[in-house]
Amino acid sequence: METVLSIKNISKRYGKIQAVNGLSLDVKKGQVFGILGPNGSGKTTTLSVILDLIRANSGSFQWFGHDPDKESRKRIGSVIESPNFFPYLSPVINLKIVADIKDLGYEDIDRVLMLTGLFERRNTRFKTFSFGMKQRLAVASALLGNPDVLILDEPTNGLDPQGIAHIRELILQIAGEGTTIIIASHLLDEIQKICSHVAVLNKGKKLFDGKVSEVLAISDSFELSATNIELLISTIKFHPAYLSLTPGAESIQVFFKDTVHPEELNRFFYQNGVILTHLSERKRSLEQHFLELLDNNK
Ligand code: ATP
Repeated sequence: METVLSIKNISKRYGKIQAVNGLSLDVKKGQVFGILGPNGSGKTTTLSVILDLIRANSGSFQWFGHDPDKESRKRIGSVIESPNFFPYLSPVINLKIVADIKDLGYEDIDRVLMLTGLFERRNTRFKTFSFGMKQRLAVASALLGNPDVLILDEPTNGLDPQGIAHIRELILQIAGEGTTIIIASHLLDEIQKICSHVAVLNKGKKLFDGKVSEVLAISDSFELSATNIELLISTIKFHPAYLSLTPGAESIQVFFKDTVHPEELNRFFYQNGVILTHLSERKRSLEQHFLELLDNNK
């Protein structure tokens, strides 16, 4: 799959603060890539570097397989600050101003207003907009020119639940049209609901990256029962990934060192003469995984 963004070993320091520390990551075409980390973990700094708003102290990055240039910048839309438009002007006029700055025609304006659900309000003043509508106008403005990549920094910050839902739907819709999306967020829930891939940052370092579905697939325990519980307990201790167990009244909870698939576990017992009467996987949530990663890297 085509690599849209490749970051190699980027570091950025502000005086004594190491905001980004040797960060490398790849974003492929069509991914909804989440950069997840607590406040101050270097998300905004990373986005500012890849958007050429600030310069890294070391490292490099490429857009669409080559060094960034004027052409690659035209293929990227971004919202990295709180929405700022002329308060007494309508969305249409504001977007015309943005189009002029970006050296684009006006033919895309109706499309982006429709996509963001603002078409009906296209002639009302920006100052009358709710915060959620302002945020959607910022997304509309980033979408002018139909960029291949959309970059959003904390897109739901400060929004009410309805505003959050609107932005989520909008992001998923844009992603559905094939646009690659990069989102920085400190909200696990947001990443879990929107993103296909995630990189977890802490103190400017990447702790982990991978598919959100794979992170979610990491199981840390199984609940098991069998007619002969004693045999179940003595057998499980021979499993190569066995870590520990907690006995219960009618079942046991078993913890493993590595990922174990249910069918493999079932086969293991069957081959060792134990017939399971119950097997259920306890999936670790992204939140648990995220907290563990942060905890191990204090
Ligand atoms: P948040 O979610 O709070 O925005 P973040 O993950 O986006 O956090 P950054 O804004 O990139 O993190 O900040 C990383 C570190 O760099 C923080 O310690 C921050 O205080 C520091 N920092 C960011 N910008 C500057 C600056 N212009 N001058 C000095 N320090 C800065």
